[in-house]
Amino acid sequence: MSIETKYWPAESPGTGIEEAAAAIAAGGVVAFPTETVYGLGGGAGSTEAVRRIFAAKGRPSDNPLIVHLARRASVAGLAKEIGAVEAALMDAFWPGPLTLVLPVREGAVSPLVTAGLDTVAVRVPAHELARELIERAGCPIAAPSANRSGRPSPTLARHVLEDLDGRIDGVLDGGATGVGLESTVVRVVDGTIHILRPGGITREQLRQAAEGLADVAEEAMPAEAGAGMTAEGRAGMRAIDGGAGTTTERRSGATDGRAGTAGTAGIDRGAGTPSGEAPRSPGVKYAHYAPRGEMLLVTGAADRLPAIVQEQALQAADAGRRVAVLSCAEHVALYRADAVFDCGPRGEPEKAAQSLYATLRECDERAIDFIVAEGYPEDGIGAALMNRMRKAAGGRELSVR
Ligand code: AMP
Ligand code: MG
Repeated sequence: MSIETKYWPAESPGTGIEEAAAAIAAGGVVAFPTETVYGLGGGAGSTEAVRRIFAAKGRPSDNPLIVHLARRASVAGLAKEIGAVEAALMDAFWPGPLTLVLPVREGAVSPLVTAGLDTVAVRVPAHELARELIERAGCPIAAPSANRSGRPSPTLARHVLEDLDGRIDGVLDGGATGVGLESTVVRVVDGTIHILRPGGITREQLRQAAEGLADVAEEAMPAEAGAGMTAEGRAGMRAIDGGAGTTTERRSGATDGRAGTAGTAGIDRGAGTPSGEAPRSPGVKYAHYAPRGEMLLVTGAADRLPAIVQEQALQAADAGRRVAVLSCAEHVALYRADAVFDCGPRGEPEKAAQSLYATLRECDERAIDFIVAEGYPEDGIGAALMNRMRKAAGGRELSVR
């Protein structure tokens, strides 16, 4: 069933925010800009609104949502306790692209938000429109990215409409988002910060902010390494609307050997996290950010990349495929393909992060069916960038040494 999706242009933010906030207060679901990507928001206490978010996205019900707050003081209403390390991270990074997983206060949010876990993921976004919307709606807003599940996240209001027109109550246009990748999700266990999902706040920033207070676990959770999901996870997956075009067909068969071992739904529903074991984030086992075409990531020493990337592009072209190359600025003139995208200098992964999702969507628009992408160095925001590129590629990676 299709509903009218309102569009509130960036030129009149006041009216847009007022109407969007009223829609959320009335139980509706509205897309809005944040500094990371566009979110699809609904009142976190409203099971009906949250159900609509999952249905509009076709999101598996075992993948919990992040709750967005206008101000830090509101976190006390959601979390049972806030440790010293968490408080220091809030001091350092809020408002901003850091999400903290905290023990949830019973009844504070709809159980659908937390997917039945005893924790809740929370952040205060560093985008004025977002904070004003939450303030005016008068309630915490649960918001995943405003895309159909599995697709690249939206960094423009136009991307939201491509995926969700007719499925949500409206979209508040705030122009292009800043970071271009989602927030970093962390959980503190026994004085150690675990990165559940890399994102806008880097490992280096976390380490610096927590110096003398806590360590940052060296290893990302094992689940981060795999782009696909396990057989158990697949069996347990439920796309709520079951509509055509949900991500189930696109998912790669890659397994990570770890996520999905805890039950048919593939998530660890155990209460706390036993000491010594990395906490998990249910969402990371799913395929994500995928363009329609097949994508191959080529990683390794910068000077070895062009020969391999061009060879892969030519082979695919010979097989009759429409080919795109995602190149760093330094190599862009070397490539011949149906489309060559300049993703920015190797030393500035921020640029590649900002443009990645829009570029993947443009590949779809141009009916590209094979994408060869150069990897970037994995420090700073490069870690999150490569995490998303690996997922977009569904685990297809050629590593050249
Ligand atoms: P998205 O809304 O698509 O940005 O994804 C939210 C991310 O936060 C997913 O990777 C979720 O698994 C993760 N997340 C949300 N709530 C929790 C939680 N309570 N515990 C662990 N991870 C969470
Ligand atoms: Mg998302």
